Amino acid sequence: MKSHKVIVASCPEYNPETITSILSDALETLSLQKPLSGNIVIKPNLVMAHPKVATESYTHSEVVEGIIRTILKQGNDINKIDIVEKSGLGITTATAFRHAGYRKLKKKYKVKLRAMEERPLVRVVLNSGQIHKSIRVARELAERDFLIFAPKLKTNVLSHAYSGALKLNIGSIDSRERMFHHNCDLHKKMIDVLEIANPDLIVTDGIRFAFGGNQMTQPGMDLGVLIISTNAVAHDMVCAKMLNLDPFKIEHIREAIDRGYGPSSFDEIEIAGDLPVETVQEKTKHLDYGFYPVNEFKCNFKIISGTPYCTGGCQGIFLDWLHMIKDRKPKSLARFPKLTAIVGKVEDRIEDKKVLLVGDCAQASPDIHAKRIIRIKGCPPTHKRIVWDMMVNLFLLAPLVRPSLIWDGFGLYPLKKVKGWLMNLKFKPLKKKI
Ligand code: SF4
Repeated sequence: MKSHKVIVASCPEYNPETITSILSDALETLSLQKPLSGNIVIKPNLVMAHPKVATESYTHSEVVEGIIRTILKQGNDINKIDIVEKSGLGITTATAFRHAGYRKLKKKYKVKLRAMEERPLVRVVLNSGQIHKSIRVARELAERDFLIFAPKLKTNVLSHAYSGALKLNIGSIDSRERMFHHNCDLHKKMIDVLEIANPDLIVTDGIRFAFGGNQMTQPGMDLGVLIISTNAVAHDMVCAKMLNLDPFKIEHIREAIDRGYGPSSFDEIEIAGDLPVETVQEKTKHLDYGFYPVNEFKCNFKIISGTPYCTGGCQGIFLDWLHMIKDRKPKSLARFPKLTAIVGKVEDRIEDKKVLLVGDCAQASPDIHAKRIIRIKGCPPTHKRIVWDMMVNLFLLAPLVRPSLIWDGFGLYPLKKVKGWLMNLKFKPLKKKI
């Protein structure tokens, strides 16, 4: 029985009017589980947006504008619309909003842009969390009546090459909790968050598709598609299929299925819309998504991967950093110094002039012999840590190392965090049981 519907609609350009019309038609045929009314939260993907170095990996403002127009057209008794996000890499979300063109939405439609790090947060107790027993989320998210996810269709080496609706939830949690168990448990963590942030409607921006490299800096191509549905699992299954990926091999999709959040087979999904999935598959079938073991990355480093292999942790984050260089400064790869890079714990004897140890497990490797050992600690180290440590220790500048972003990450971001801390003193966190 087809209990879920996913609409795959052709949308060749970022035109808010066209997007509104597609969404309005989609809402006529999708059965929403809740009325589109009250406090509406839109959660886009703004992990990073920058006009020079991160141009493809975020949800375009025109898609969010189309969603807002549809809400205003088809919703009833709308109290407010909040766009809630927490960007990545320790860059302020306000900057991501600005670079992604969201400020005009604030002026035009009187919606609020809510940067999580500078907002009141609510600690929510989870009933069935496997990694988290409770999490802190934006108050607007916890108190919303209707939640709309607006993910970007893109690849991500930290999550089995696929980033979509379920992965979007990592941006729903606070930075400290975001890195907790960001290792081989990443898929479990993502699905824990679904308990508090399970979307009522999902609209994926696949007009441009970002692929093949670092989740923030990778290039993109025209794909001309909007995907719309009311179930995040069905949604991601169809999106993965369009990209010629097997959804049942993507850990977080599998985890969501196992926990009963959506269909367990394509027999339960009706795929509708004017763009056949096969047409999109044809366009994506020869693309390289860059998802392979970190030790297979071609560069001057001799990379040795030990145990465990954490796709969502050290190995994934280091591979992501390597891709970042390849995406935007490919010539730098030839200038990498010769060294041995260890990711994960390695038992064998390792001998080199220079050894780089990435992550806490690598630090525990017992038989390392080198004139110089460079240590990047953490379980896993954050992207920001790797970018910084590679710069100060090896003079390797990632493309995101730019004066404006350094000021943003190391000057503004701490100030925003202080603001957030003060806000949370003022608004005592509520204990909310869902
Ligand atoms: S230190 Fe790295 S490799 Fe070890 S468990 Fe943590 S994320 Fe995985």
